[in-house]
Amino acid sequence: MYKKNDQFEKFENKVWLSSPTMYPDSMRYVMEAYETNWMSTVGANINEVEKIAAETSETKYAVGLSCGTAALHLCMKLAGERLYGKPPVGIGALQNKRVFCTDMTFNATLNPVVYEGGIPVFIDTEYDSWGMDPVALEKAFEMYPDVKLVVYAELYGFPGNVKQIKEICEKHGALLVEDAAEAMGATWEGKQCGSYGDYAAVSYNGNKIITGSAGGCLLTNSLEDANQARKWSTQARENAAWYQNEEVGYNYRMSNVIAGVIREQYDHLKDHIAQKKTIYEKYKEGLKNLPIMMNPFDEMKAEPNYWLSSLLIDEDAMCEQVRSETEALYIAEEGKSCPTEILEAISSINAEGRPIWKPMHMQPMYRMHEFVTISGSGRAKTNAYIAGEVKDVGADVFQRGVCLPSDNKMTVEQQEKIIEIIKACFE
Ligand SMILES: *Cc1c(COP(=O)(O)O)cnc(C)c1O
Repeated sequence: MYKKNDQFEKFENKVWLSSPTMYPDSMRYVMEAYETNWMSTVGANINEVEKIAAETSETKYAVGLSCGTAALHLCMKLAGERLYGKPPVGIGALQNKRVFCTDMTFNATLNPVVYEGGIPVFIDTEYDSWGMDPVALEKAFEMYPDVKLVVYAELYGFPGNVKQIKEICEKHGALLVEDAAEAMGATWEGKQCGSYGDYAAVSYNGNKIITGSAGGCLLTNSLEDANQARKWSTQARENAAWYQNEEVGYNYRMSNVIAGVIREQYDHLKDHIAQKKTIYEKYKEGLKNLPIMMNPFDEMKAEPNYWLSSLLIDEDAMCEQVRSETEALYIAEEGKSCPTEILEAISSINAEGRPIWKPMHMQPMYRMHEFVTISGSGRAKTNAYIAGEVKDVGADVFQRGVCLPSDNKMTVEQQEKIIEIIKACFE
């Protein structure tokens, strides 16, 4: 049990969950853009980022965009139009179509489904990877054989069996959008995350493994689709001297200035992954005598990028914890702990942790949406889930899991102190 009066000194500078890591040379391509006046959404940096992103992710084409969410939006549009044809103006490409979505993820994975009028159906999580459960996905296809799109996200950079997910999609004639925003550089069976989807997205947001402060890329093996996405992203201008429009457009193109930062950051991707791996392994070793486990993954097939180290407390080592929509309470108990207590403890020394991403089926806006688990299915908030008759893996991992400070600039001493304070929670 962590006591507030335990002697733990605060860090002078906050240790972040995951923050940008810049280098003396980080502005070199930005300066090039500035000095040559390529300050808009055209230029050498964008071209280079597209080349490097495609190579790194083992796909043929990458389209540089303003953020990962924009990339996912254009993924949904490409998939929707390929599946259902071009909709009339004002109607989404996925209008009223069910789409099977990863449940335990950040909402940006599936907001774009909703932008296009689609109806997310949430697929429960597997304990082995905290990714979408392939068995639950099969079950969802039994219930809704006409569904033609699956959206899969790798959580915290720890890949699940995305190959099997892809095979299930192929068997049912469905397309796969892969949200690799958190998993850049991670692999499954030696193949890059982002290369499994028919369409995929990576992100260069400030908290990701490499960053341009913002930015994202859409990934695809289709030249035609890459060109279509690029056209949409620049207001869908037709080839004419004046502004000629045949379809709705977006202002989603990557800036050549931002691209300058991203271009330089790619040189550090491998190092960042190595640093994150060291952090993960240090937590694993330091916390090995506690009733917890670290992010699970298949050690034979997955090579994570270790973006966020997280832990899951054993069921019988959980003290009582309740959460409303916005607040949490717990009752401290000897020998036990809970995410809320650990987060309080970490924060008391000026470090940043975070609860596991709250599953989508638990979000108020999706309360009435369908949720499919291996043991049952129905509306997200039915009595069966509340009474615990249906095993809800996502809710369980949310209840017991914590994301730990994983900044690659955290010192060994700082991490050791974080480990000590987590241990104190279980005393
Ligand atoms: C960060 C993130 C996104 C969104 O990327 P942005 O570049 O911030 O728009 C999408 N999905 C997941 C899983 C993410 O973590």
